[in-house]
Amino acid sequence: MNKASDESFFQFGERLQKTLHLWIESSGRSLDECILQEQLVEIASPELKVKIIDRNPASFKEAVQIAEAHADSRRYLREEKASSTKNGPSVSAMAPPATSNPDSDSPTKATETSVTGAQPRLCYYCHEPGHLVKACPKKKQANTGS
Ligand SMILES: [Zn+2]
Repeated sequence: MNKASDESFFQFGERLQKTLHLWIESSGRSLDECILQEQLVEIASPELKVKIIDRNPASFKEAVQIAEAHADSRRYLREEKASSTKNGPSVSAMAPPATSNPDSDSPTKATETSVTGAQPRLCYYCHEPGHLVKACPKKKQANTGS
């Protein structure tokens, strides 16, 4: 409500009071309930605001209950979302844990150099030096044979 430029503060105050009384009378509620609900609507999200106004609660208590139910449903939706994403990150579980370990890089390098330097690497499959299991001719033979 705005004060008209040709209106005195006295007139404005009277008009304000009249409007307030009218508002309270038409709502059929007590003053404190009107103010309380107004405050609730003030802090409510646009979604909840619409809900409260739409339901036109008879009392502030009812308005609070609407707000609470609204918050509950939002919470429920959030939990649903959270649990559905919980099933998702199986991909991240499959990621090698080595990347999270900063020490994992250097030991593998150290063993690699020590292995190639001191003794030849042995094939995992046939335990022969000179090639790795990836290039193992015996394994290849076995694979093609079966
Ligand atoms: Zn081999």
